[in-house]
Amino acid sequence: MTATPVMIAVAGLFGLLVGSFLNVCIYRLPLGRSVVFPPSACGSCQRPLRWFENIPVVSWLVLGGRCARCKARISAQYPIVELVTGVLFAATVALTPVGPLLAARLLFGAALIVLFAIDLEHQILPNVITLPGVVVGLAFALVAPPGWRASLIGAAAGGGVLYAIAAGYYYLRHEDGLGMGDVKMLAMIGAFLGWQLMLLTLVLASLSGALVGVALIVSQRGSMKYALPFGTFLAVGAVVAMLAGQPMVDWYLGFY
Ligand SMILES: [Zn+2]
Repeated sequence: MTATPVMIAVAGLFGLLVGSFLNVCIYRLPLGRSVVFPPSACGSCQRPLRWFENIPVVSWLVLGGRCARCKARISAQYPIVELVTGVLFAATVALTPVGPLLAARLLFGAALIVLFAIDLEHQILPNVITLPGVVVGLAFALVAPPGWRASLIGAAAGGGVLYAIAAGYYYLRHEDGLGMGDVKMLAMIGAFLGWQLMLLTLVLASLSGALVGVALIVSQRGSMKYALPFGTFLAVGAVVAMLAGQPMVDWYLGFY
């Protein structure tokens, strides 16, 4: 069943609300705080937000990006995360038939947004997302594409390949190039997408990481040693692989 424009619009609105919750996760998970309690408050004056201050994107725009009471600046990251989640949910519903695969992709996409933002800000990928993510990805594969076999191989190979690269780099350079967080994240990506799209994700992440790295060096903003958060690139690669990967893999395999 293909999605109607109304379904896509509803998915976008639902995504805005989910994005609001993802903001809470992005802010609190690195601090080890609960994501459900207490309710959202201003980061500066700690006053709890009233319902009309908590409407995705709209509240931030109406309040001019400031707290209604203390006028402290509220980061543009909040409405951006909400918008990105809304767009991702709308695109996923537009491209995925209704069923278990759609549920898996929405959950996976939401997890990727949280990992993207936390890795970018803190250079960590919390186990509370990646490890359950591996299990949930494997469980969905029992009833949805890519199927349990491709999912199991994807998780094992995803974790294994990056672990080997990380160990090899450490052996050669005696310093950490990749963290264990990246290893667990690629295992999660393999579990959700299967081994083929996991490999595509790794290629896309490495290419985009190299491009941004070169751009940073050329613009003198970073040195060769500047550690780019690889999980951020893995998240972008995985979203592209999830939504557009199968045609890319088919096109590539068409050469053989
Ligand atoms: Zn305030």
